[in-house]
Amino acid sequence: MNKHEFHLQTATRLTHAGRKGKDHHGPVNPPLVRASTMLFPDCAALQEANGTRRVYARHATETTMALEQALCAAEGAAACMLTPSGLSAITTTLLALLKPGDHLLMVDTTYDPTRQFCEGLLKQNGISTTYYDPLIGAGISALMQPNTKVVFVESPGSLTFEVQDIPAIATVAHAGGAVVVSDSTWATPIGWASFELGIDVSIHAATKYIVGHSDALMGAILTNEALQHRVRDTYKQLGMSIGGDDAALALRGLRTMAARLAVHRESAKVVARWLQSQPEVAEVLYPPMEGTAGHELWKRDFRPEYACGLMGAVFHRDVTKQQVAELIDRTRLFGIGFSWGGYESLILPTCPSNYRTINAEKWTAPMLRLHVGLEAVEDLLADLEVGFSALRALPTMAQVA
Ligand SMILES: *Cc1c(COP(=O)(O)O)cnc(C)c1O
Repeated sequence: MNKHEFHLQTATRLTHAGRKGKDHHGPVNPPLVRASTMLFPDCAALQEANGTRRVYARHATETTMALEQALCAAEGAAACMLTPSGLSAITTTLLALLKPGDHLLMVDTTYDPTRQFCEGLLKQNGISTTYYDPLIGAGISALMQPNTKVVFVESPGSLTFEVQDIPAIATVAHAGGAVVVSDSTWATPIGWASFELGIDVSIHAATKYIVGHSDALMGAILTNEALQHRVRDTYKQLGMSIGGDDAALALRGLRTMAARLAVHRESAKVVARWLQSQPEVAEVLYPPMEGTAGHELWKRDFRPEYACGLMGAVFHRDVTKQQVAELIDRTRLFGIGFSWGGYESLILPTCPSNYRTINAEKWTAPMLRLHVGLEAVEDLLADLEVGFSALRALPTMAQVA
């Protein structure tokens, strides 16, 4: 199967892409290749391979190529480049598309290490960044400069889950000669038609739902036809590469991703509704749920069958940080930790105002981030009940004062 077979249903593509067809006699999965050196039988063969990706294992092996093909088929991309982490996929892409003197429009709700890269290496190299409101839509035209080369989107936003109007932003970006780069980790390669929405490069922390089992770090850069050579050139110069074992883990995760997302989505909706009904909770940040901020745009641009299990909850200002910590500590099934997208549930206190240039004051109430995993949802609700009871046993802000 290759990218021309994009007409097959998503779940079919995830199970068949990147492996041999019906006429193949042998194992279902492509071989796990552990390699550095590639040997050639004679000088003529070496000569012939020179300049291709088959010459050295940093460029490709059968295992990494199978994963690249499967990811291209999943998202409808022209090319895929695999990196050792989600963050390195972002930094590699930005280095490929920006040069000294260029300007970057970065969504203010981006993953914080992305912001640190803008303020660090990009700034040092004479590339300026302006942070924009995730809800700006077509209004981004006011921020475009003649040297704006990349508009970076991340939707829903990190920690606060704002849904961006990507088609409106992409129309303005393209008219101004910029390309649109997306951190698409929340959507996964199958949660939306990224390239049809106007995204030129779609980046994933494959660490999350693609690997899906919390046992490897990886990034994936998926590009359209026009940008693939520019991005690959920088990718090669930086020496980016992944190992065969990790590629095999990611491929194994990808095969079941559609099925897993269906469970994450159903359970997440139940948990989101339950949270919404707790008196201490002011707002649940989960765009797939009807009535939440961003739901209308989400419904327009995302595929409802593949929503993921990551959400936020904002408490009333009367709730103390101490109470939230108690809730988190008392749950038994929700692990405390960064990252997400594995099979297990996670919970984390968040403080988005520390990572914002715009509207920082909007996000100062205590907040949670939850990843709803594949446990039975009844057990998760019972666990959260315990947590909320513990929260209620502690004094509120008014009672402390
Ligand atoms: C986790 C994450 C990353 C970084 O991925 P790593 O593999 O941890 O480097 C980037 N963007 C988003 C939105 C993430 O959640």
